[in-house]
Amino acid sequence: MIKIKTTQNIEEMKIAGSLSKAALRRAGALVRPGVSTAEIDAAVESFIRLHRGVPTFKGYGGFPGSICSSRNEEVVHGIPSPAVILQEGDIISIDTGATKEGWVGDNAWTFYVGSVSDEAKALCECTRDCLIAGIEQAVPGNHVGDIGAAVQELAEGNGYGVVRDYVGHGVGRVMHEEPSVPNYGHRGRGVKLQVGMVIAIEPMITMGSWGTYTLPNRWTVVTDDGGFAAHYENTIAITKDGPVILTEDSEGPWCPMQGGY
Ligand code: MG
Repeated sequence: MIKIKTTQNIEEMKIAGSLSKAALRRAGALVRPGVSTAEIDAAVESFIRLHRGVPTFKGYGGFPGSICSSRNEEVVHGIPSPAVILQEGDIISIDTGATKEGWVGDNAWTFYVGSVSDEAKALCECTRDCLIAGIEQAVPGNHVGDIGAAVQELAEGNGYGVVRDYVGHGVGRVMHEEPSVPNYGHRGRGVKLQVGMVIAIEPMITMGSWGTYTLPNRWTVVTDDGGFAAHYENTIAITKDGPVILTEDSEGPWCPMQGGY
């Protein structure tokens, strides 16, 4: 069942959304060669708790981290670890979720570690543009398929793959609600978007094959051809005035970074 939020609920959700974005920004500020993903995880957990929130991912289905940190060919759900040391040229997708005052905010961004290849940058920029294209479709009367089609057309038009095995989702008092929000589909198909729906739009785009598998640690999802993947996400409310990004702090909804956007 899709849980429709009131205007008041949506205002309340901005609190968790803002903290989730600030946590993502905190993570991005730590990204550099030589840092471990466990260090970033610890800093984000402290940051969220300092601001009286709870890291939504910690313990979710047994997940051990407060962030998901997915490097290079890892798509999503990478486990932060002291053994994963970021290196110059890596790209690192970080997903942060914060629960505060009863609501969840969920967002992700792919950061560059030092200077990265032009190919990796192009993948990241296209994936960010896919997120923007998806958000533009998140208006009342459109369908979930309009979001998926917009993302798919842009990604595939640039020669990239669209991950099928993982999709966006409704967000509310828990992280995963209905409906599913695939990054592929057909215009005019699927659930009709209504005022008061809150969804996470999260394109996962690959350099090559869109096929994935899960590592033996039961969490980390990687591309089946070893090609790089990027992942950008915001939590969006569908309102009569159009899409409203809830994962936005005082600096806005995006995480610009050095040498990038
Ligand atoms: Mg999500």
